[in-house]
Amino acid sequence: MSADSAVAPKKEYRWQGLRVPFIAPWSAERTLPGDIVRRVGRGGAGIGYADELSHVDRRRGVLWTRQAVARGSGIPCLPGMHALRQRQAVSHMLCQVCGGTTFGDAFERWGERHLFVARAADGRPLGEGERTVMAPVCLRCAVESVDACPHLRKGWTAALASYAQPWGVAGITLHATTLRQLPLPAKGLHMVPAGHPAERWTIAMREVSTLHGVTPISLDDLVRAA
Ligand SMILES: [Zn+2]
Repeated sequence: MSADSAVAPKKEYRWQGLRVPFIAPWSAERTLPGDIVRRVGRGGAGIGYADELSHVDRRRGVLWTRQAVARGSGIPCLPGMHALRQRQAVSHMLCQVCGGTTFGDAFERWGERHLFVARAADGRPLGEGERTVMAPVCLRCAVESVDACPHLRKGWTAALASYAQPWGVAGITLHATTLRQLPLPAKGLHMVPAGHPAERWTIAMREVSTLHGVTPISLDDLVRAA
């Protein structure tokens, strides 16, 4: 994928009156089966696909889940994340709702910072160095989302951040001997920092980054300033 295709305007899809976020998966975007095998690669033993294509199945040496790409086909899962579009959004700082770049006029106006909005039922603000799988969001989409998104209506927090530093991946880690899935933590996926030995036994499903230069803000203030 070229940088141009990452920043090109994305088609909008609606479902039951709601705009479907760019990163939301659709029912036709199934996880594709792939036989996982133990293999010895660069740096030691780990897992791979029996029919692996290293240029599409791996990123920075980490094995990624295989998920069909068919945006707009079937039924959207609004709170979900499509593995490749999440990675694309985080890597290129694309708005997770409209898929547009977040390096626009607002980025300049906010002192070269990106806007992040996260679910926070307990009202806890985003903190410095916070680990997240969230991609940034543009102001228009943020305002629409906190109003329309059933998950955000329960509580959310917004912050401007100077940059998102790649941290590692979230996914499913397998036992190095049995290749059985290790028990998942209560909060969902296994979190594996880049370079950790567990990386070699993990099927990545999300890019994880840490947020820096974080300042909690009010969306109303940003709207007024715009
Ligand atoms: Zn947007």
